[in-house]
Amino acid sequence: MTADLSKDSLKQRGIRLTRQRQILLDLLDRTGQHLDAESLYRMAHEQDPKLNRVTVYRTLKLLKEGGLVDELDLMHHTGDQHFYETRTKQEHAHIICLRCGRVEEFYGDPLRKLRRQVEAHFGFQILIARTEIGGYCAHCQVLRSQEVEQARGAAAAAPAKARRRKSS
Ligand SMILES: [Zn+2]
Ligand SMILES: [Zn+2]
Repeated sequence: MTADLSKDSLKQRGIRLTRQRQILLDLLDRTGQHLDAESLYRMAHEQDPKLNRVTVYRTLKLLKEGGLVDELDLMHHTGDQHFYETRTKQEHAHIICLRCGRVEEFYGDPLRKLRRQVEAHFGFQILIARTEIGGYCAHCQVLRSQEVEQARGAAAAAPAKARRRKSS
């Protein structure tokens, strides 16, 4: 999203573009990340030490209500935290590693196709669609299989020790 675009849509929606709103939008745009409210607060506070937590949280809520940012739960992989991203990105699915928390974005035709099919099949007018896919990334799959191996090794060793103890 360019700064000009976000200013226009803010004006259209009748929201006054205050400094803290612009700081938050810029942070989300610039990092291109899915940031939680607390991280956003810390980054915004670094830029403008006068910003307090309450203002940042309230501003986020307004941006969400104004349709400028999306609030995501990303499978709640960190607990009940919510994450934010700007609304102007093309529709995408979020692929979340439930072990390390890495988030990937999937763009492409299948999502548009799904949307068309749902609209046709149910005669439904879709306003918002969120696709979240949870699982293990390639790196965590390797780590997990190692952990499973270790656990198996430990389980196999434990009864042997117990037996030795009984016989002595
Ligand atoms: Zn992972
Ligand atoms: Zn995203």
